[in-house]
Amino acid sequence: MEQKGRKKDKTETAFDRLDAIIQASRVMPTIILFDAVWHLTFAWLEQVSKDACAYLKSTYFDQMKRASLQGQFWCGEPVWNSNSCWFAGFWAGVTGTYPGSGSGTQPLESFHAYWQDAVRSSVRSDPRAIFARMEKLFHDDWAKKFEWEESRVFQTWPQYPAQELLNGQALRTAGRSPAVDFYTERGRKLCGQCNHYKMYWRTDATTTDASGKDGTTVFYVMRCSKVGDVLPAQATITKETAERVVGLIAKDGAALKNQLLQAGILKSENGQESLELPALQFYLNKHCCVMKGHLPDSCWPRLRRRLQTAFPSVVCTCLEFLLHGDCEHVAFIKALEGEGNVDLRNIPVVRTAGRKRKADNADIAPEAKSSKQKRRSHK
Ligand SMILES: [Zn+2]
Repeated sequence: MEQKGRKKDKTETAFDRLDAIIQASRVMPTIILFDAVWHLTFAWLEQVSKDACAYLKSTYFDQMKRASLQGQFWCGEPVWNSNSCWFAGFWAGVTGTYPGSGSGTQPLESFHAYWQDAVRSSVRSDPRAIFARMEKLFHDDWAKKFEWEESRVFQTWPQYPAQELLNGQALRTAGRSPAVDFYTERGRKLCGQCNHYKMYWRTDATTTDASGKDGTTVFYVMRCSKVGDVLPAQATITKETAERVVGLIAKDGAALKNQLLQAGILKSENGQESLELPALQFYLNKHCCVMKGHLPDSCWPRLRRRLQTAFPSVVCTCLEFLLHGDCEHVAFIKALEGEGNVDLRNIPVVRTAGRKRKADNADIAPEAKSSKQKRRSHK
């Protein structure tokens, strides 16, 4: 049934397209991909509305010299103008994000959400209790979390990922998969593929100005949001898709242009170049990539501000990571590789009551079953 009044026709309006491009481009993993998207978008917008194009260029965007961006961020060779690229103030917030420091696009909300959550339930009946509760938080929780007494480098991101990222129904409802779902479904499917694809690339040769001790980067490509009915943890990642995603992140200049063409993100017809939005969304919004080794250590070090040598960084390209620090994907990869302090084998998969599942035990890691049974017997 057609809804009256709202949408007159189903054709995509120029505004819808522009809106979708803004959404998609916010989470581009590199400056040069962001530049590529907007180079093509401005060429299209120029045809649609000269005014809108001029307005956007003069308000949100700047044509920046590559050399000046390189002072702050890693910036490979842009695809079209080798010495300058489109850059946006709003996006600088994302690239400059220090995960977990609450410096995302909603810094205040994300910074305060954690302690508000811890205090909220206990002060519902008596608002005055907030003072005693916060004092308790200060002694019991914050002091331990930041280890003020210990002589070590202060870290601005949490030491453990949030529980809801490890095993949260809210994530499944939002079309994401918590880390425990990725872990449970990690095995090879009948088609021969897994829900993640691990690959090694020499990135010191593919990027023009990244340098590090060891030039190898490990990439883990995964889905980060639902496609059709398939949740990220149940999806399978082919070698081709993984290599596309990694190529888009790690290459620059003419090689990046080639990657954009092969992925179908850049279409070239009769000398006219255009952006294929669905392809861009598929590879860079629906998929994410956890990286460790050369590329993150040299391009996106997490402790660049304080230390001379980079602290080994494990980063992800998903929005959650950019805004809040370790995401479900980083938690999964650390558990998969037996690194860090997250053991997903012992987390029972808890689902909200009332909804019948086809196979209740099928989505629990075998090692976790016994602990779930134990929990149940306590009730
Ligand atoms: Zn992620």
